[in-house]
Amino acid sequence: MNNQMYEKLGISKQVAEFSSEILEKLKPRFEEIDKIAEYNQAKVTLAMQKNRVSAECFAGSTGYGYNDMGRETLEAVYATCFNTEAALVRPQITCGTHALAIALSANLLPGDELLSPVGRPYDTLEEVIGIRESACSLKEYGVSYRQVDLLEDGTFDYENIKKAINEKTKLVTIQRSKGYQSRPSFSVKQIGELIKFVKEVKPEVICMVDNCYGEFVEIIEPSDLGADMIVGSLIKNPGGGLAPIGGYICGKQKCIDRCAYRLSAPGLGQEVGASLDTMRSLYQGFFMAPTVVAGALKGAIFAANLYEALGFKVVPNSTESRHDIIQAVELGSGEKMVAFCKGIQAAAPVDSYVSPEPYAMPGYNCDVVMAAGAFIQGSSIELSADGPIREPYTIFFQGGLTWYNAKLGIMMSLQKLVEGGFVNL
Ligand SMILES: *Cc1c(COP(=O)(O)O)cnc(C)c1O
Repeated sequence: MNNQMYEKLGISKQVAEFSSEILEKLKPRFEEIDKIAEYNQAKVTLAMQKNRVSAECFAGSTGYGYNDMGRETLEAVYATCFNTEAALVRPQITCGTHALAIALSANLLPGDELLSPVGRPYDTLEEVIGIRESACSLKEYGVSYRQVDLLEDGTFDYENIKKAINEKTKLVTIQRSKGYQSRPSFSVKQIGELIKFVKEVKPEVICMVDNCYGEFVEIIEPSDLGADMIVGSLIKNPGGGLAPIGGYICGKQKCIDRCAYRLSAPGLGQEVGASLDTMRSLYQGFFMAPTVVAGALKGAIFAANLYEALGFKVVPNSTESRHDIIQAVELGSGEKMVAFCKGIQAAAPVDSYVSPEPYAMPGYNCDVVMAAGAFIQGSSIELSADGPIREPYTIFFQGGLTWYNAKLGIMMSLQKLVEGGFVNL
């Protein structure tokens, strides 16, 4: 783009030129991403056609929400697309943590054990499980928890996973994305291998995958390779930036039936739950999701290449394959994290004039800094960056509804680091 426009946005000539040099080398990778997006676009379109999505589906319901055709059809679309027997896709699911809490508490009973064979789960799940004490945790209800850490090289510790599976083990939770950790995210193929192994040791174990940030990054999902449930948030990938709220659980009918009973009430299940005015955006967002995810992935790869060239440690690195949309950049200090976030914020279409500062957040045990100028509050499929202010001072960057806005965000983050005297070009 003509540098005059970038200048108007507050980007210096040096930052613009450095960015162009980085981008020049990324063309072949961007082509690969476009191919995956094209495949996934076809997959979503086919699922919509097969389930006869029509204008009537967008009407929505009120009150109890009986016979809500739009809601039922949307759930069928998700089930078709993700290759599962059933799906629960609801605006009543408030976020990803809620969806995961439903899936876990619906399928674990007192005396059962939950196993994470991939190390520590996402921060907010610590209270759900009871790793950190909390009222209403699984622990409080008599569900025990066991964890097997990854090996040094980030691979599965099969030997100890086998030892950890016992007569109480009922459900295995596998987190696809690294979340706020420095471990690698897992490919769907790796997750499939882990599920196969677990089922060989104990066939009746339920395998659940926390699919947050992973949807549409690859051409298959964990449910294509044996996961009994996949779980995620509609204000991340599958909402395509348009869903104003919601979460999903897709999987085996008997698991989903229990989830529906837990979400509403035993006996009511999927029959109730008014969709209000959300249906059109949930459908349209799902339709847009493959393209939006492709833009986010390009942003993540651009950030990795740019910051790696400047000498920062980035996870994944500049050339690694991608299994989620998150880019971690190890900046090494809280001040740099804040400067980075100020840049992301300044590039946003909404709230660009505010300045992010670290603060305490529910679910986290330290201050967190966040940049988000989003149409949907807290939406992290939109341009956003966040990170807990603790060693090793890593910022997690994700989203951007369009590739061009993601690109601007990253350029602006660099601009702020340059202006702060943290980086010399
Ligand atoms: C975001 C996320 C969650 C929690 O989702 P919220 O919508 O923030 O509650 C859980 N697991 C992973 C891997 C996530 O990325």
